[in-house]
Amino acid sequence: MKPFGYVRARTVPEAIEAHMNAPAARYLGGGTNLVDLMKLGVETPATLVDISALPLGEIEESAEGGLRVGATVRNSDLAAHPRVRADWPVLSHALLAGASGQLRNAATTGGNLLQRTRCPYFQDLAQPCGKRTPGTGCGALTGHSRDLAVLGASPACLATHPSDMAVALAALDAVLTVEGPGGTRTLPVTELHRLPGAHPERDTTLAPGELISAVTLPPATAGAPSAYRKARDRASYAFALVSVAALLRLGPDGTVRQARLAFGGVAPRPWRAPRAEDVLTGARADEETFRRAVAAELAQARPRPDNAFKVPLAAELAVATLTDLATAPEPQS
Ligand SMILES: Cc1cc2nc3c(=O)[nH]c(=O)nc-3n(C[C@H](O)[C@H](O)[C@H](O)COP(=O)(O)OP(=O)(O)OC[C@H]3O[C@@H](n4cnc5c(N)ncnc54)[C@H](O)[C@@H]3O)c2cc1C
Repeated sequence: MKPFGYVRARTVPEAIEAHMNAPAARYLGGGTNLVDLMKLGVETPATLVDISALPLGEIEESAEGGLRVGATVRNSDLAAHPRVRADWPVLSHALLAGASGQLRNAATTGGNLLQRTRCPYFQDLAQPCGKRTPGTGCGALTGHSRDLAVLGASPACLATHPSDMAVALAALDAVLTVEGPGGTRTLPVTELHRLPGAHPERDTTLAPGELISAVTLPPATAGAPSAYRKARDRASYAFALVSVAALLRLGPDGTVRQARLAFGGVAPRPWRAPRAEDVLTGARADEETFRRAVAAELAQARPRPDNAFKVPLAAELAVATLTDLATAPEPQS
């Protein structure tokens, strides 16, 4: 590992200042992704700004009736929170489907959102990768792409986004609070991750030095039946080949009043599915509708021969999840 500087920040402004004053700085949350990448030589920060002591470790009711989750809240604590389990179960399911108990005890909410791709070409310094080293191309284009993207990729990058939690947050319309040298702003989580285009080296829309300080779950998605389902090569301790986060609220006549759908493991960012949601909303909640909705979204898929299986897998996973939600009893408030 290369030598690096270390600063332990006590306040958010102190963290931002330390980040801005040190070239090639990185914030350090639980370190479960960043430190691994430093050991591989993929990340080479000159300074780590440790944010684990910032006062961002609380989960609180928001004024509007949602839930505000501090950026350093650990994944285990968020998954176990009674309000999350009752009102946004998809988030709890997604967190518990990820990594292992030990990792979830260390991993933070902000760090989970900003973990980097598990693409093998990104992690191997001997391979070309424009996400790791701009301008070097994409080894997966002529190599192994079984685990990589079928939606939203570009000729510069086929990598997928790895976070399970981020897929649930995309389906829930969560909103981030972002603090930076220019002040504080809010950002819908669906606008955090970017598609690669010609610049795969930029994963997100965050500006240099910006820090995620909180994630807010909105009341509009609270209390509806929701679920997360993940298909993977092993039953645990494996990233998603395909995953689905879904929320479905039905009216008394059996039609869909509110629908939210997002896919993981298929794109460079959590893939919110607005075309499917348009078909679902107002339609009868039955298998024919679910198949039509999912097909409308996945018509944009551009798979490669070795990952074409992801498209029918995503369709079946989504239809099964929506069917389960449509037949589940409404939670009692
Ligand atoms: C063996 C293994 C299996 C795993 N399996 C899964 C899985 O199945 N599903 C899954 O979703 N994840 C999985 N993970 C990944 C794990 O969830 C992440 O490593 C973890 O969530 C990252 O959180 P962290 O706090 O440790 O982030 P860190 O490693 O500290 O940081 C990650 C990135 O976020 C930046 N950062 C951290 N916090 C902030 C902030 N508040 N504001 C701005 N930037 C910030 C850092 O600079 C860094 O670039 C696995 C990891 C391992 C090692």
